[in-house]
Amino acid sequence: MRLTFLGTGAAMPLPTRHQTGLLFEGGAEPLLVDCGAGVLHRLARTRTGYEGVSTVLLTHHHLDHVSDLLSLLKARWLAGEETLTVAGPEGTADLVEDLLDAHDYLEDRLDLTLREVDPDAGAFEVAGYRVRARETDHSAHCLAYRLHVADHKDAADGERRPPTVTVSGDTEADPGLVAFADGSALLVHDCSFPDGVEVSNHPTPTRLAEAIADADADPDLGRLYLTHLYPHADGEEESMAAAVREHADVDADVRVAEDMHTVSVE
Ligand SMILES: [Zn+2]
Ligand SMILES: [Zn+2]
Repeated sequence: MRLTFLGTGAAMPLPTRHQTGLLFEGGAEPLLVDCGAGVLHRLARTRTGYEGVSTVLLTHHHLDHVSDLLSLLKARWLAGEETLTVAGPEGTADLVEDLLDAHDYLEDRLDLTLREVDPDAGAFEVAGYRVRARETDHSAHCLAYRLHVADHKDAADGERRPPTVTVSGDTEADPGLVAFADGSALLVHDCSFPDGVEVSNHPTPTRLAEAIADADADPDLGRLYLTHLYPHADGEEESMAAAVREHADVDADVRVAEDMHTVSVE
């Protein structure tokens, strides 16, 4: 499985950080998680392109996660593609239908499938990925996702867990969410602001590290990527990663995500 960070910024993007978008490849089809402003352009720089992305999974409906959704739909229509599936939390169908009401010339251009995720309904499959969802602590209804390739088989050891990635979505630091990610090869976590910024709905490095330290049963994490960075974090990236390392009592490789960086998850 491969993950490309298309956008690692937030509602106040930087030239180097577009709004939120993650491209997963290695399942039956590519899967785009979130589609904020700039993600369509970032997709155009990938080999998969927007032509190759027929499934979008939304963490929530804040604008920095959905701004490019209709632009993606239009680009796919103009490119001759025929389908788009949009999955996300409760309200996703209304969101997409309302957007199409406002831009009604785009209605019926693609064969559109809308799916809503109930985090209490157990695992589900989308685009060839097996996904579990967990509600986060945020100002909008938001879901974290834990996913792996659905048909993954490990020939050498049937007991081994498939390589898994957990995406936090937007959230306060939460030990329960860290426990949800336990055993993930990668945890991609909101860390919007450096320490010293008074903020709610998003963590700072020390608050995230404390949640990791407080998580039940010492979470086993491979690598932690900090993402969803505001301009306040510009130039603070190394000190933010260092603060998480210092305060989280966990053996994980902590890095700050960068736009267009691709990581293999094996
Ligand atoms: Zn956001
Ligand atoms: Zn948000």
